[in-house]
Amino acid sequence: MRVKSPVNIRIRKGDRVRVLSGKDKGREGTVMRVLRDSNRVIVDGVNRAKRHQRATRATMQGGIIDKDMPVHASSVAIVCPQCGPTRIGMRIDDQGLKTRICRKCGGEL
Ligand SMILES: [Zn+2]
Repeated sequence: MRVKSPVNIRIRKGDRVRVLSGKDKGREGTVMRVLRDSNRVIVDGVNRAKRHQRATRATMQGGIIDKDMPVHASSVAIVCPQCGPTRIGMRIDDQGLKTRICRKCGGEL
């Protein structure tokens, strides 16, 4: 039986990304978390949902809180400072170190 390995997400926490599909299409934000197991990312201000929180003894107050829900990694694109939304390529240098590059301009990301 084959074990399903997590898809290699090239997006990292802190990256600037643009949403390509869904209700927040066209919106840009910063990656807050990368969820490798589910191939999803949480982007600041994207896919925000209102959650009704029940009052508990701990918080003493209920209400509605905003929560950013994960979006699939394939529905966001990294934003290159030079050319905008782009795809990530990899370059391996003489020392064998991998560097993320922009597929359009070749600049480091
Ligand atoms: Zn670029």
